[in-house]
Amino acid sequence: MKPVIALVGRPNVGKSTLFNRMTKSRDAIVADFAGLTRDRHYGNGRQGRREYIVIDTGGFEPDAGDGSIFREMARQTQQAVAEADVVLFIVDARAGLSAQDHDIANYLRRLGKTSILVANKAEGMKEGQQLVDFYELGLGEVYPVSAAHGQGIRSLVDFALDSIGIPEPDDDLPTEDEGIIKLAVAGRPNVGKSTLINTWLGEERLVAFDLPGTTRDAISVPFERNGQKFELIDTAGLRRKGKVFEAIEKFSVVKTLQAIESANVVLLLLDATQGVTDQDAHIAGFILETGRAVVVAINKWDAVDEYQRELVLRSVETRLAFLKFAALHYISAKKRQGLGPVWQSIIQAHAAANIKMSTPMLTRLLHEAVQFQAPKRSGMFRPKLRYAHQGGMNPPVVVVHGNSLEHVTDAYKRYLEGRLRKQFNLIGTPLRIEMKTSH
Ligand code: GDP
Ligand code: GDP
Repeated sequence: MKPVIALVGRPNVGKSTLFNRMTKSRDAIVADFAGLTRDRHYGNGRQGRREYIVIDTGGFEPDAGDGSIFREMARQTQQAVAEADVVLFIVDARAGLSAQDHDIANYLRRLGKTSILVANKAEGMKEGQQLVDFYELGLGEVYPVSAAHGQGIRSLVDFALDSIGIPEPDDDLPTEDEGIIKLAVAGRPNVGKSTLINTWLGEERLVAFDLPGTTRDAISVPFERNGQKFELIDTAGLRRKGKVFEAIEKFSVVKTLQAIESANVVLLLLDATQGVTDQDAHIAGFILETGRAVVVAINKWDAVDEYQRELVLRSVETRLAFLKFAALHYISAKKRQGLGPVWQSIIQAHAAANIKMSTPMLTRLLHEAVQFQAPKRSGMFRPKLRYAHQGGMNPPVVVVHGNSLEHVTDAYKRYLEGRLRKQFNLIGTPLRIEMKTSH
């Protein structure tokens, strides 16, 4: 599981700027919990081989009525701080200490969470003078950085990760033991995740078995279905209660992100009564970004009429266009309808993500594709596609070799992708195509 770093601090100290520095995500995941004055943002970061999740908690708005910021804190930040392994408490080196900074510091000290005090906007400042005041907060060492200028960020991230004892990982990809498919059911609150999981686990053909050594914090449920072993990775905060599993926690974005990361296949669950919301699209975007195999199921199909079904399908087509490669199912977890084909798609997506394509076969396909439609000339250059080999798995990567390949258009890459997908029956996995020009 990736470690979680939360950014806290009053408004305008530079949290968003730091967040952008620390994440590689183009598109942060925004959790639109009702009642928040400002959204929380979740993003992926990486430094060297170490990966982490960053939460920007938004500002502590000082308008909590009675002048206390704790009410806001409770509402906005508590969950983020609770889920974090380490907190970066950001203060403004130029503005100096404020009363709010003291409140936040007290709160963090009471929690006893690993916290690092970061003085932002410290570019061009002489160390010492202005920063001395911040030691008053009683959080120890002050780390001067400049988020805007990118100064001190790398060593700050290193220090944060070291402080929680995160070692260099052996491998980025989720490991696959003995043919067990790790499956995560992802979706926003109330789409029917717990209902589906309980329906599944109540099925007779599903046999639970024991799996030693499960991961930190996560509940995982191993089971076998028609001879295929699965491990269900929890996203819903489930706890076994007798024979059924109960959701004990509120929806957790962090758990969702971590489960997606550690899964081989993600089942993205949507709610037919709601259509595709922003949060669905953000979760889908995150699945795509991690390169996981994916199956989409629209739940509560029993609860909508023809008109609503049309609307939902249209919203899937427009808002989740980037998941066109995934199988789409209409199900009712409650009424146990349409569930069999979902299993087939999960197995198919897993197989597609792990496909092995030989160089002769890829090369033959490439030549056929070019013969059918050659890439366009660009000025003086006509790209020449010579051969292709598989450069990676899970998701599959096809590397095309040739000359002037930097002039191959995106449209042509999509054309190649379409042909490859068709030929190898690649449903449910992202497919990456890389061009390698030899000079
Ligand atoms: P947030 O409200 O804490 O998320 O703060 P923002 O990231 O929105 O930044 C608030 C303001 O501070 C913006 O105008 C930023 O451009 C500015 N800012 C952020 N980081 C730095 C920095 O390192 N140096 C300086 N001088 N300004 C910064
Ligand atoms: P979760 O938050 O994603 O785990 O969602 P739950 O499983 O708790 O379901 C939220 C609500 O949707 C509950 O009231 C369920 O009874 C209802 N629900 C779940 N699946 C279906 C379904 O297939 N059809 C209908 N009509 N309601 C469903």
